[in-house]
Amino acid sequence: MEAFDINDHSHRRYNALTGDWVLVSPHRSKRPWQGQQEETTKEQRPQYDPNCYLCPGNLRANGETNPEYPSTFVFTNDFAALQEQTPAGGLSKGGLIKAESERGLCKVICFSPRHDLTLSDMAVPEIRKVVDLWQQQYLELGALDYINYVQIFENKGAVMGSSNPHPHGQIWAQSSVPVEPAKETMQQTQYFHENKRSLLADYLALELEEKTRIVLENEHFAALVPFWAVWPFETMLIPKRHFAHLGQISDEEKDAFAAMIKDLSAIYDKLFQTSFPYSAGLHQSPTDAQEHPEWHFHMHFYPPLLRSATVKKFMVGYELLGDPQRDITPESAAERLRGLA
Ligand code: ZN
Repeated sequence: MEAFDINDHSHRRYNALTGDWVLVSPHRSKRPWQGQQEETTKEQRPQYDPNCYLCPGNLRANGETNPEYPSTFVFTNDFAALQEQTPAGGLSKGGLIKAESERGLCKVICFSPRHDLTLSDMAVPEIRKVVDLWQQQYLELGALDYINYVQIFENKGAVMGSSNPHPHGQIWAQSSVPVEPAKETMQQTQYFHENKRSLLADYLALELEEKTRIVLENEHFAALVPFWAVWPFETMLIPKRHFAHLGQISDEEKDAFAAMIKDLSAIYDKLFQTSFPYSAGLHQSPTDAQEHPEWHFHMHFYPPLLRSATVKKFMVGYELLGDPQRDITPESAAERLRGLA
């Protein structure tokens, strides 16, 4: 039998950050793509839309009017999935039928008053204002005694279920730590106890040495396709310095972070010549009043597009029943993204 070649033979990759596994089938990306290639053009939108509930000066469903905000604007979601007034309680039958009440609150952040922009169109100082607001919200919501996790994220594009193209993101703050950050907390804690170092700092050092999965780099941040990536052009932004949350980021690092978001989203838009859809979000330490020396702040981008602006990845079949699977290797995805920088 020939020797194992990670660029050719099927294998499972370990996600050191969550403990999950992904099946990688590199030989399959060599088969010709039979599907249709569709031409898409970037949708033209007006700077102001009188029917948009996020544009300045417009009326929202709850009867409030948005102020004439000049840069960013945050408000409590009128249709929040989590509510502050939820009473404590739960349900348990033999440990098999189990529920716990969940308190929290949901906010919406407009990135810009301009209806027609996305993060990739915005200037770095404008994105920096978004980072400032993320920081302020993380600290303010995290300080509430019943809030133990603050999830900041953006759903971009109708394909990701975003109901409005106005550039905006969301914050869901809640009393429990959700599954993904909980897995990352566990893995980082174990690594930190065993090695006395940050898991992601050590991982980033390996990636910066190997370079095959690095997409972009500046003084304080690197963007890479993680070794364990599941989504076709999935990336992570990781700060070079080990810090746990946005309360610990320096002004210089905030500028570098904003610049990296701009550069990466511009690359994404170039990939299939479309306003590239994704779900993206920040992962940072829980706000549960515990010390979290293990936590290393980072941002994930999960794009669904596979081969063109219209061919999407869905989790079906084996992926629902077994493990996630991918054909395009993280190395070839990184090479392609790097080529567009
Ligand atoms: Zn994460």
